[in-house]
Amino acid sequence: MIEAAELKPCPFCGEEARLLKDCDNFLKWRVQVQCMGCVVETRLFPTQKAATDFWNTRAERPAKKGLSEE
Ligand SMILES: [Zn+2]
Repeated sequence: MIEAAELKPCPFCGEEARLLKDCDNFLKWRVQVQCMGCVVETRLFPTQKAATDFWNTRAERPAKKGLSEE
C-alpha cells in the first residue's frame, strides 16, 4: 500500500516539495525529496517513508547547513 506523501513546505523557501524516485543499478528503489522552488534535495533513501520523515524533520527544524549534509 502506497500512501500519499505528506511533505511539509520547504524549510528554506516555503515552496512545495515532491518525491523523486529512481532505480539504481541493482534495481533497488531510491527516493529523495526535492523542493520545487529552490530545488534543494535530500540525499537518497531506500524508502519513501524514510525520505519523507527526513524531509519533514528538517522542515520542522531548519538547519544552517544544506539538506544533503549529514
Ligand atoms: Zn525550497
